[in-house]
Amino acid sequence: MVIPATREKPQIRSSAMTILQHNLPASLKQELWLLLGITGTALLAGMLTGKLLLCLLTGLSAYLAWHLLQLARLLRLIRNRLAPGPIGLYGVWKDVFRELVTLYQDKQQPEHRLSRYQGSFEDAISALPEAVVILGQTGKIEWVNPAAERLLGVDYHDSTGERLLDLVRDPILEEYLDNGAFEQPLVFSPPANRSRIVSLFVTTFSGDQQQMIVASDITRQYHLDSAQLDFVANISHELRTPLTVISGLLEQLQTSNGGLPSEQRSIELMQSQTLRMSELIADLLTLSRLESKQQPPVADEIDVSELLAAIVAEAQTLGRASGHTVQSHIESAVRLRGERKDIHTAVSSLVTNAIKHTPKRTQVDIRWRVDSEGGYLSVSDNGEGIPARHLPRLTERLYRVDGSRSRNTGGTGLGLAIVKNILDRHGAELKISSTEGHGSTFHCHFPLERLIRPEAVQDSAVSD
Ligand code: ADP
Repeated sequence: MVIPATREKPQIRSSAMTILQHNLPASLKQELWLLLGITGTALLAGMLTGKLLLCLLTGLSAYLAWHLLQLARLLRLIRNRLAPGPIGLYGVWKDVFRELVTLYQDKQQPEHRLSRYQGSFEDAISALPEAVVILGQTGKIEWVNPAAERLLGVDYHDSTGERLLDLVRDPILEEYLDNGAFEQPLVFSPPANRSRIVSLFVTTFSGDQQQMIVASDITRQYHLDSAQLDFVANISHELRTPLTVISGLLEQLQTSNGGLPSEQRSIELMQSQTLRMSELIADLLTLSRLESKQQPPVADEIDVSELLAAIVAEAQTLGRASGHTVQSHIESAVRLRGERKDIHTAVSSLVTNAIKHTPKRTQVDIRWRVDSEGGYLSVSDNGEGIPARHLPRLTERLYRVDGSRSRNTGGTGLGLAIVKNILDRHGAELKISSTEGHGSTFHCHFPLERLIRPEAVQDSAVSD
């Protein structure tokens, strides 16, 4: 079928009109109407006055001047990053300024949201019952909450820029902050209110640039704990004397008694039970002594090889009867900073356990090594090992894997609780690994702050 050429033109024209009508934005249509209006008015004025060209030029110049004015306004707003004023314009500029307002509002929104979040965050910290103090790089106060005024005596409204130690003058706090060993909280009575007991934590953030101090009032809990600790300590002391008397009398009875073997057996049984009770009391007293210590452990410089030599000598005496072999392996010359007596107690206790809870002729190894994450004092044995399900509970007081067997071997069930307590005070961790049938290893992992590297061995110690 042939379509006549004459019929195509009106169709194209009408679709062009449709696009013009439907696709042009309203503002552009307004603009076209404005231009038409100005041109029409200028033509009419030109015909009436006889100065057609002048009128046309004047009309178009006015139109151009108006556009230039709007352009200048737009440039000023963008350059000065100002908020667009009321839109109330006509034509294409109305759209331009409306878009600009939207852009401006979009940009403002996240900033508003951020400052709103910051506001609510500060409100939340202000409402905390714990005192919060933020210190800057030079130790000067940057921010405090109202509880800091109540607990520490730091003025909520007027302390920014001051040194905390100038406002809270306390030698214990000063020493704690100077030491920089924040693994344990500081428990002290602030000078502003000596009747309160406060537990204070320090956290460093912003790449060590700032510190956040959080202090909470533990007065009530402290008195309750102290009463409980005193009770355990006092009762243990009270039991000690009668036990010493009983054990002395039993000894007398044993030497003077020429009686029946069954009576002798009963006396021996009573003696072993008295010994067990004495050990339990000794462990309870050790635990309460450790728990009542408020200050961080003193910083003795411990020569680990010397310490392990002493422990091995003691353990060999104990292990001789059962045929256990005890050996130490010193893989680093790095020294340890801590309370010598307590570290000795902890490692000794692990070695005693390795002898007590493993079969005869087991090999026990004590190892000291250092890597980039700290120092490890490990005690391992090739005994029967401990089933995995018991490992998480081993450091609980009185927890035993096999109650009756441990009692027979003289265990009190407090040994590992004492070890954990000593390590906690040193910011160290007890890690236990064990494989049934192959043995167990108890690692005491000390943080880097607790290591003292001798200059001469510094490099080799790190690579150890
Ligand atoms: P105890 O005084 O009974 O030794 P501990 O707290 O020292 O108490 O140890 C808890 C339990 O952990 C022990 O009763 C024992 O069952 C188990 N245990 C500790 N060390 C070892 C070890 N080296 N090998 C096997 N079992 C162990």
